[in-house]
Amino acid sequence: MDTDRKGRHKELKVIEDKNYNLLEQRLIHHLPVAVYTCDKLGHITFYNPAAALLWGREPVAGRDLWCGSWKLYDSDGEPLAPENCPMFRTLKEGIAIEGEIVIIERPDGTKVRVKPYPVPLFNSEGKLTGAINTLIHYTDIRKAEENQALLASIVNSSDDAIISKTLDGTITSWNRAAERLFGYTPSEVIGKHISLLIPADRLQEEELIIGKIARGENVDHFETIRSTKDGTEIPISLTISPVTDLSGKIIGASKIARDISEQIKSQETNERLFREIKALNEKKDEFIGIASHELKTPLTSISGYLQILDRFENDGKGKKFLQKTILQVNKLTGLVSDMLDVSKIEAGKLQYAEVNFDIRLMIDGVLELIEHTQGDHEITLETTIESLFVKGDQQRLEQVMINLITNAIKYSSNPARISIYLNCTHHDVTVGVKDSGFGIAKEKLTHIFSLFYRVEDSNPTISGLGIGLYITSQIIERHHGKIWAESEPGKGSTFWFSIPRSK
Ligand code: ADP
Repeated sequence: MDTDRKGRHKELKVIEDKNYNLLEQRLIHHLPVAVYTCDKLGHITFYNPAAALLWGREPVAGRDLWCGSWKLYDSDGEPLAPENCPMFRTLKEGIAIEGEIVIIERPDGTKVRVKPYPVPLFNSEGKLTGAINTLIHYTDIRKAEENQALLASIVNSSDDAIISKTLDGTITSWNRAAERLFGYTPSEVIGKHISLLIPADRLQEEELIIGKIARGENVDHFETIRSTKDGTEIPISLTISPVTDLSGKIIGASKIARDISEQIKSQETNERLFREIKALNEKKDEFIGIASHELKTPLTSISGYLQILDRFENDGKGKKFLQKTILQVNKLTGLVSDMLDVSKIEAGKLQYAEVNFDIRLMIDGVLELIEHTQGDHEITLETTIESLFVKGDQQRLEQVMINLITNAIKYSSNPARISIYLNCTHHDVTVGVKDSGFGIAKEKLTHIFSLFYRVEDSNPTISGLGIGLYITSQIIERHHGKIWAESEPGKGSTFWFSIPRSK
C-alpha cells in the first residue's frame, strides 16, 4: 500500500514538473469549442482543431498575432483594428473580456459571428504571461436562444397549465394557462410553495408525488382536486415529470394540469342518459311481458270456445267463417306467445328443458303439422339419417323449425318449394331450410337475427314483427350452437343451424 501510494505521488510530481503544459494542451486539443493561447506579446502559441475550423485556416504558431482569423470585423461589420481586438486588450490591460461580438472572415470569404472570451494568464509571481481565448460560435448561441424562445412560446401558448417546481415544492415557473386556470399571476406564485393550490384534505398527495418524482418516476393523468385563487375547487388531471440538471440529477418537477370539469360533466350526462335508456328499456320489456300475459288468457278462452263451436256448427257458410276465425286467432296466439318469449329472453327467464330426443322424428312431426296447417307447399326432406339423438329442449327446437319453415313459405311465391336438410358430423347436427323465394340482400343478411329487424323494402306487404329470427337465434345460442343464412335476392335463401350431438 505504502509503496503504491508513494509511487502515485511520484507520478503526479512528474506530470506537474514536466508535462503540465502538454496535458493542458492535450485537453484543449479535444475540446469541441475553439480555444487558443497567446504569449504576452500576442503571438499565438497554441490553438486547437476547433479554432482552425472556425478561422478556416491554420495560423503559424509564434508568428500570427492576437487572433488566427484572416480578417476581423466588429459586430457592425466594420473592419476591426488589431489594437481593438478583444485579445489585444486583454493582454494590454490584463483583464478578461466577455459579452462582445466579432465577425471573422475566412480565406474562402465566408463570415462567422463569434463571442470571444479572452482571459489573462499570470505566473506565480502575478506577472502576465499570456492569455487564453475561447471563441463561441454566435449562431450556436443564437440557436440555443431561439430554441429556448420557441420552448417558452410553446409553454405560454399551451391550453394546459404548465408549472415547474423544485423538489421542496417551491414554484419556479408559471405559464399563462396556469394563470387562467388558478387565477394567480406569475409574480403572485413564483417562489411560493405549491401547497398554495392544494386543498387542506389533500396535502398528503404532494408528499406522494414528490416521492415518485425523486425516484425518477412520472405521475400520469392523476385525477384530483386543486384550489384556485378565489377558493373554488376544480377537478384536474395532473401529469408530472422529473426535471434534471445537465448531470442528470433530479432538481425538480414539471407539472401539466388540465381542467377536467367539462369531461366529468359530459361523463355524468352520458351515465345519466345510459341509466335513463336502461330504465326505459326495462319498462318496455316489462310492458311487453305484462301485455302479452294479459292477452294470452282471453285468447286461450276464445280459442277453446271456437273449438267447441266448430264441433257444433254444421252450416257450410258458418263453418267456413268459423274456421277462418280460428286461423286468425291461432296467428294472434302465435304473436302473443312470441312477444312473451322476447320479454322472457330479455329478462333472462326463458326456461329450457334438457332431454335426449330423436331430431329426425321431431322434424317429421313438424313437417306433418305444417302440411296440415299451411296448405299445399312442396316440402321435401333430404337426408339419409333415419334416427339421430340430440340433447336439448325439443319444444324450443320445434319452434325453431316451425319459424324457419313458416318464413320460407311467407317469403316465397305461392306455392313454395322448400327443401329441408339434416346432416351430421361426429360432433354436430346441422339442419338447413332452403327456399326459392325472394331472397335477402347481402348487406341486410347480417341484421336479420336482431330484435325487431325486418327487410321491409323488398316485401312491404308481408306483415310481421321482426322477432321470430331473434327468438330462433337465442334458442340456438342456448343450445351452444350457431345459426346463419345464405341468400341471393330473387333466387332464395337457406337458413342453417347446427347444435352439438348428444355424447
Ligand atoms: P318477421 O318475419 O316477423 O318479419 P323474422 O324475425 O322471422 O320476422 O324475420 C326477420 C326478417 O328477415 C323478415 O322481415 C324478412 O325480411 C327476413 N326473412 C326471414 N326469413 C326469410 C326468408 N326465408 N326469405 C327472405 N327473407 C326472410
